[in-house]
Amino acid sequence: MNKGTLMVVSGFSGTGKGTVLAQVFQRRPDVYFSVSFTTRSPREGEREGVDYHFITRQAFEERIQRGEFLEYAEYVGNYYGTSLKVIQEKLAQGIDVILEIEIQGAAKVRERMPEAVSLFLVPPSFEELSRRLHKRGTDSEEVIQQRLATARREAKEMVNYDYIVVNDTVEQAVGEILAILVAESCRRERRRDLIEGVNGL
Ligand code: 5GP
Repeated sequence: MNKGTLMVVSGFSGTGKGTVLAQVFQRRPDVYFSVSFTTRSPREGEREGVDYHFITRQAFEERIQRGEFLEYAEYVGNYYGTSLKVIQEKLAQGIDVILEIEIQGAAKVRERMPEAVSLFLVPPSFEELSRRLHKRGTDSEEVIQQRLATARREAKEMVNYDYIVVNDTVEQAVGEILAILVAESCRRERRRDLIEGVNGL
């Protein structure tokens, strides 16, 4: 059985990661979107086990002690982490997995699983990012300025990612991500069965 592709997706707050990935999921329901553990409280409309597994700080720290996370990070005062067991199981079954995680976690995944493919989703420009954050209307001017400053810091990490996708239009960004998933599945390392099959003819 060929192993699935592990794809790590990061992007600045306000880039539209959620919208883009929701459409990727619609078009590729066979891909497993990892459900992270977090200590932050659920936002309105978020569901346990669907958006996140919401757990206490103590429960999270116990999981850290037991080595249950592929990676975890503290982000804006809360823990976020990815279950190692679930990811390993899916990949072993030949299922592609997408992790939507922030940059510190992405760096850890690259370290632990160098075969992972990483992708950074960016807005067309900082002006456009600022416009989108204002349009969303959920944050105060101060918070928006903080998010923009964080984005400028995070932008320095872009050089460590394999792919950069620009979210100019959602359709185009979704198309590019789907194309990357297809290309990765055609890699020689993921075509062992085929190579052995043809040579055994
Ligand atoms: P939010 O609280 O807005 O849902 O997520 C905040 C940030 O945490 C986002 O950048 C998101 O990508 C990231 N995140 C979500 N799950 C994980 C995870 O399991 N590990 C890491 N390192 N980051 C995560």
